[in-house]
This record gives sequence, C-alpha cells and structure tokens, in this order.
Amino acid sequence: MRKTGLVYDPVFMKHDTGSHPENARRLKYIMDALEDYGIRGKMTAIEPAEATVEQIAAIHRPEYIQKVADFAAAGGGYLDPDTAVSPRSYEAAVKAAGGVITAVDHVMAGEVDSAFALVRPPGHHAVAGRSMGFCLFNNIAAGTCHAREKYGLERILVVDWDVHHGNGTADTFYHDPGVLYFSTHQQGIFPGTGRISEVGAGPGEGYTVNIPFNRGTGNEGIYFAFTQLLEPIARQYRPELIMVSAGFDAHYSDPLAGLAMTVEGYIKIAEIVKNLADELCGGKLVAALEGGYNLGVVGHAVSAVVNVFGEYGITVDEPGGTPPGGVSPLMRMPVDEAIKVQKRYWDL
Ligand SMILES: [Zn+2]
Repeated sequence: MRKTGLVYDPVFMKHDTGSHPENARRLKYIMDALEDYGIRGKMTAIEPAEATVEQIAAIHRPEYIQKVADFAAAGGGYLDPDTAVSPRSYEAAVKAAGGVITAVDHVMAGEVDSAFALVRPPGHHAVAGRSMGFCLFNNIAAGTCHAREKYGLERILVVDWDVHHGNGTADTFYHDPGVLYFSTHQQGIFPGTGRISEVGAGPGEGYTVNIPFNRGTGNEGIYFAFTQLLEPIARQYRPELIMVSAGFDAHYSDPLAGLAMTVEGYIKIAEIVKNLADELCGGKLVAALEGGYNLGVVGHAVSAVVNVFGEYGITVDEPGGTPPGGVSPLMRMPVDEAIKVQKRYWDL
C-alpha cells in the first residue's frame, strides 16, 4: 500500500452551477464511491489551503482574477457561454487552485507518495486572461508553477487524459522546456486546439505532445499513445514530478464526448503513469480532477485510479459493461502520425 492523499473541501460543492453538466453532484458521487469501495478511509485527508493571489497570478492576469472575484461577488451568471459562476465560485476556485498547490506540497514533503485533488471548478481550459470550458483558474498549471518556484524543479511532466485538449495548460507552458505537456483528446470537439503539429515553440519546441483521436477510439488507441509515446518520452525527459489532469469524459457513456474508453482503460493508463512516477521521480504524482460528466461513471473511474495510485488491491466495477463496437485499426493512426512528428525531438 502507498500513501495517497485526498484533497477535498466542502466549498467545492458551493460552486453552484445548477443543472449544468459540471455540477456539484459530480463530487458527491465521487466521494460516495470512494466511501463505498472502502478507499476513502485508506487515503490521507489533505485540507486545501487557499491559493494566494500571487500564486494564481503566476498563470492569470491580475485584472482577470479581479474580474472573477467581482463577478461572483455581484451574484454570478455566465462568465462566458460555457462557464457558470455563483456567489461562492471565486472562493471555490481559489481553493481548487490552492488544493493542487497543497497536494504538491504534501507530495514534495514526502508526507504522501501521491495525491488526488478532488477539486472543482476544473481548470485546464482556463487561459491567462479568461475563463473557458467550465474553468475559472487553471489548477494544474498553478500547482505546476508552485512546484517549480518553491522546490526549484526543472522538469515537470503534465499528463492530460481528459477527453478535451487542455488548451490553457498547453498555452501556459508552450514556450517552456521546464514543463512537458502530454495530451490525449478527441479531435473536432471543444476547444479545437491540440493538433499533432502543435509541438511547442522557441525553447519549448518539442515539449508539447498532442495526440488527437477520432470519435470512437477506445482503450486500445489511448493505451498505444501511452506506451509508444508517453513512456519513451518520459524516460528521456526524466521528470522530477508528474502532474495529471484527470478527466473522465473519455468514457464511452459520457454525454459530452465520443471516445470509447472504459474504467478498465483508465486503470491501464493510471498504471502506466504511476509506474513512470515510481521509475523516474520517486513516485511523486499529483492528479487533479478535470471533466467527467456521467454521474454513474465518475465515482467508479476516480476510485479505480486512486486504487492504482494507492495499490489498495480493490476491485472496482465497470459500470455499464463494455462499449459496443470492435477495435478499429484506424485508431492507431494518430499515434503513428504523432510519432513521425515527435521523432524530431525524441528517440522513438
Ligand atoms: Zn473534458
């Protein structure tokens, strides 16, 4: 068994988005599942600190931070066509970013081996000057910047397995070789970025890896990206910490997307990432919740990933069984194309 932290705070439920797909019930279902599987009691509870304005300003412009605060204080509404804000959303968002920062602190101090930050609002679409795609502040980017500033880390790997491209995170570190951003996502859906040709720029060229998959790609295609691209690149990059933008909307029954992963698929990629952390950086691994909108799935999927991180040996259910449809040879095509491009930078 490995010590795994659980970052949670009731204020995350107070980001009240009503009937929006990204709503507070997601966290309730996840917490209930962790309890039902007997996982929650095995985890180390970590109370998140609020991020300071300076910590958020490492990613976001001060006037945007103030705008979110003012908008929430004025009662909220929609900050952009996708992103709802309620009176306590600023408070929740500050603690969501702070939650990932606190998780980094606990992992770096060796108090836990890994940590899962069960935060909302999610973060990976938020860019320097505006909200996007249900995200107010970029939690994973804030945690990553904190890890560099406080602990002087020079190489951090960010793995983003949410079904959407994490454009905010990618933008933040696009010119930066100190953060390697690796994303698998569905092409043709929000936010429209994340092409294979987006490889980073300037000193950051070669430190962004995008694998956009076609609708219907299942476990096997995603798994192929992790074994053929992530594993060799991570071994050559030698990260000192691995961060995960853990979205669960690539599940086949998710209402917002059309990749065809199962809980078993999440277990496989979580094992790959955990094993890389063990091999390369003393197991130091911090994951933060991003998307995942099927309430019947998210709790099982998060439990399955935490079960891998903690080596608890618990069997997690596959809700709804396996998806319809067979394995298509086409699903590997984006990986082969990405390998051709990334070969310029890595021995693949
Ligand atoms: Zn997503």
